[in-house]
Amino acid sequence: MNLNNQILKKLFPSILLNIADESIHLTFDDGPHPVATPLILRELKELDIRATFFLLGQNVQKYPDLVHQIYTDGHQIGNHSFTHTNLIFKKKGFLRDEILKTEEILETIVGTYSHFFRPPYGYFDWTTLKVLCEEELTCVLWDVDSKDYRLNSVSDISHHVIPNTTNGSILLFHDNDLTSQKVETYLPILLNTLLKIGFIFKTLPI
Ligand SMILES: [Zn+2]
Repeated sequence: MNLNNQILKKLFPSILLNIADESIHLTFDDGPHPVATPLILRELKELDIRATFFLLGQNVQKYPDLVHQIYTDGHQIGNHSFTHTNLIFKKKGFLRDEILKTEEILETIVGTYSHFFRPPYGYFDWTTLKVLCEEELTCVLWDVDSKDYRLNSVSDISHHVIPNTTNGSILLFHDNDLTSQKVETYLPILLNTLLKIGFIFKTLPI
């Protein structure tokens, strides 16, 4: 975790999620994706692991059945904006649109709003935090980046994940075009390794 995140968490304890518990938290960004998401859901079901999916409104609109499956499988759903635009230096109206359009469409599909928001690329500014505060959404970043979007070998991804994971960690993975052809190779190995170490997977505390 970088120093900036630590300072921000001190300044905004109620809108930036800070976890200190005895479990780890698996998160997937950018879905739902027609290839990657079903593969991930199958693996999570097999290992009886619940995760948090930060969904893009534009993909939610395209694949409502996958959103429904994520929800009925017992996973948690978070908001990852509508179009995956960098939110820094954007006006409040733009930010509200990106966030609330996604909330509304999620509500029509699963009947509930999300509690969590993850800004695209992890980039946000004071205005983003203000809007999230007004909408009672908690900003969720991560401390373990799998770099699954750019690394290909299981050992390279593993090298980023395994040594850096501790209790309370939030792990970042993706279900998108960049991971859809390889997620089946690295995810089962990584999850089984983490389980063998003794980590307990839980969704984010509300
Ligand atoms: Zn993303």
